[in-house]
Amino acid sequence: MGDRDELLWAAVIERDDTVNNVVYAVKTTGVFCRIGCKSRQPLRRNVRFFESAAEAIAAGFRPCQRCRPEEGPVPSQVLASVVELCRRVEDGHEKFDVGAFAAERGYSERHLRRRFVEIVGVPVAAYARLARADRVRTSLRSEISITRAIADAGYGSSRAFYEHGATQLGMSPVRYRGGARGERVAFTSLLTPLGTVVAASTKRGVCAVKIGDRESALIDELHREFPLATVLRDDDELSDVANVLADAVRGGAEATALPVDLEGTAFQMRVWNALRGVPYGETRTYSQLAERVGAPRAVRAVASACAANRVALVVPCHRIIRRDGALGGYRWGLETKRALLDAERTAAEARRSAPE
Ligand SMILES: [Zn+2]
Repeated sequence: MGDRDELLWAAVIERDDTVNNVVYAVKTTGVFCRIGCKSRQPLRRNVRFFESAAEAIAAGFRPCQRCRPEEGPVPSQVLASVVELCRRVEDGHEKFDVGAFAAERGYSERHLRRRFVEIVGVPVAAYARLARADRVRTSLRSEISITRAIADAGYGSSRAFYEHGATQLGMSPVRYRGGARGERVAFTSLLTPLGTVVAASTKRGVCAVKIGDRESALIDELHREFPLATVLRDDDELSDVANVLADAVRGGAEATALPVDLEGTAFQMRVWNALRGVPYGETRTYSQLAERVGAPRAVRAVASACAANRVALVVPCHRIIRRDGALGGYRWGLETKRALLDAERTAAEARRSAPE
């Protein structure tokens, strides 16, 4: 057994998905995998390495259904190219030759453009437009940087990133912030024991829920977040949403069932989607959430995605706390976070002890 095989085996154990092209085959099952495959690891003595999927197939092995090793170059390599492309575009080089860029890295232009859409959520040209507009409206900057989101997520998690692409979330992928151009955003407000709640919705779902002291400040914020939309009050249209939220702040209802219309990076979308899966009356830590989205090393990025949540209650970021039990942060104030958790815990306990 050569040194190289030993290194590759170490990579298999670590599920290191940065190893290019090389695959491992398992004699007992007849299946071959990418180095970073998440399926159960085989015994060392049953493993054989091949330089490529083609060689493994030629030797009579079949590709794993889970990691699909026959489907082109490893995603982290593609991801690195996509990130690089994002950077070039963000730097203002949108006119540069995507075809030449792809060819330098061994892809066809078509393939790279397709992967770009899968990973980023919009085509290169759209991303270039948004990046250009973004250089003018820098206030939206922090929310647009897919490059940073991917980098924050760590290359180690790129495989999971790729597998659970935003398009599978059941929410629109990165519908990049044109500030909801030309759309109608209706809002309403309600007074609750926690303060004023302002909720807004497009025709697809709830796009903002804010909690604060002053209604006018919250509405101003709404206008800033959707600068190109028609933002107007419509209490009738949002009366159902208001009822659910009024109950939710008292711990009486679960607001996560409301349809949402969210805009964010693919990574943020994954985090927000996972947040909607944290059960009522329970909490999770930032690390648990990072595990949940397949990016265990990206705890900081996960915390920023929680902080960037614009839809209080409906995307229940208040259910994420620090490992030591401290509350961590909350965009709408720690007191509000504490009150929400208390209300939910009390209501959940009451439900459990209530006779059936
Ligand atoms: Zn596999």
